[in-house]
Parts: sequence; structure tokens; C-alpha cells
Amino acid sequence: MTSNGRVASMLHFMDDPLLRDLVEMGKFLGSIDGLGVTDTLGKRGGKAGGITPRAPASQVPAGRKTSPEPLIASEPVRLAVSDRQDALEVRALPVAPARPDPDVSAAEIALAAIRDDIGDCKRCRLCEGRNKIVFGQGSAGAEVMFVGEAPGADEDASGLAFVGRAGQLLTDMVEKGMKIKRSDVFIANVIKCRPPGNRPPETDEILTCQPFLEAQIKSIQPRVIVALGATAGKFMAKTGEPISKLRGRFASWDGIPVMPTYHPAYLLRNPSAKKSVWEDLKLVMDVLATPSK
Ligand code: URA
Repeated sequence: MTSNGRVASMLHFMDDPLLRDLVEMGKFLGSIDGLGVTDTLGKRGGKAGGITPRAPASQVPAGRKTSPEPLIASEPVRLAVSDRQDALEVRALPVAPARPDPDVSAAEIALAAIRDDIGDCKRCRLCEGRNKIVFGQGSAGAEVMFVGEAPGADEDASGLAFVGRAGQLLTDMVEKGMKIKRSDVFIANVIKCRPPGNRPPETDEILTCQPFLEAQIKSIQPRVIVALGATAGKFMAKTGEPISKLRGRFASWDGIPVMPTYHPAYLLRNPSAKKSVWEDLKLVMDVLATPSK
């Protein structure tokens, strides 16, 4: 083959949306290779590269399986290609909700008011053992918000969400995987104080803290929320289903699409679950790629 012919056939190869997405997934998994993952392309390591635009639904080849997963009732949907290696699917995504030009300074003021309202909170027993209240941090104009379970030891000491090992992995997911600066998203937790010994939050603790998370979401008006782990996933999706069942399909919080996925701390113990998380994050990126009305 002439070199022109080779270039032409490579371009044709890279034109295939599925192959492009497989390459992206390999880059994502390679980007967190320090944690011991072998990527799906069979290589270790590799630098993260740019994200290639996903294929519009109109390019989905005929004959792909339709996902049996339920949609959010009564929400408009659009279709996007999902790129599992073993099963090619067309998935339904919620259309990003209408989002008027966000008034970031109003959101900043609102967040500051919520923090003031929390004050030196003594509304539940967690105040007894906590060091710092972890309000959450990031951009008041964030399009995507991450919600974890509760502060751990590092967060309790620093007052900042997701700063320990799990936080480092979350940073990689956001920055290397989604190509968004961590400072451009907002990261919070279902509860704002560390439970003793990192036990899961109890229902009354969650309910006591709920108004603050709700108010944060209302102030920021993210286009999409990622719920990290079982506690956040069940809380945000308002169900008792296990995270393994919840992940991969959107729930809805006040009309905002919520993607439950595995917690970064779980990924540190179970690196093979990173592939599923990447699938979920790509659906989140699809929502972000939808022009907001
Ligand atoms: N795990 C969480 O759920 N939240 C944090 O902020 C840190 C670890």
C-alpha cells in the first residue's frame, strides 16, 4: 500500500466512533494506571489525551441492541452510543435541563449564606467527634456536581471534601478522564461531618444535613450530578437499590439528571470497577455535551 493509502485507511479507522471511544477509555484507564489497572487495549500506562467528540445518535448503526434499562419517567430523552466492548448498545440519556445563564456571583452569595446557616452546627450527634465541618468546595457555576458520602479523616482535618487517596482518584477521574478542571466542578457530601470511625451515616444524620445539600444544589443548579457510592447513590436516586443496580442509568433530582456510580474508595479496592465508572462518566459527558436550552 502507498503511504497515502495507509494514511487514508488510518483516517478511515479513526473515523469509527466506537474505536475512538475504545481508545479514549484506554487513555482514561491508563491515566490512572498507578493504581494497578491494565487498560482494555492490553497496554499499561499511557498518557491521557484529548476527548474525541462522541458520535451523534443519527450515526448509530442499525441493528445495535436497545438497552432494557428504564428511562426517567416523563423526561425528554436522546440517544447516545454506549461503547461496551462486549455489547454495543444505544442508551437513552436525559436531555440537559434548561439552564438560564448561571448567575455565578448570586450562587456564590447563596453558598456563603448556606455556610453561615450551618454555622458551628450542633444539629446532630456528629458534632461531638468532628474536627471541621466539610461544606464542599469548587465552582459556584459548576455544570457538574459530585456528591460523596461523608468526610473521612483527611477531610475532617482539612475541612475540604475529597482530599485523601479517594480524592486523588476523583481528581484523576475529573481531570484526566472527563477533561474538566477539578476547580470547575463542585464537590460535596451527603453529610458534612465525619462519622466516628468512618461508619456509614445514619438516616437521621442524613435527614438533618439534607436541607444544606439541597440548598447547595439549588444555588449551583448543575446540569448533571454524579452520586459517588451507595450512600449518595441511594439518597440522590431516592431508592434502596444497591449501587451495582443503580449505576449506569440516570435518576433525577428535581429534574437534574443524577448518575450514581461507584465510590472512588471502592475503586481503590476494586480497580476492575473503573471500567464501569468510565462508562458512567461518559454518559455524564454526553449530557454536558448537549447544548443547554
Ligand atoms: N469519601 C467521601 O465520601 N467524601 C469525602 O469527602 C472523602 C471521602
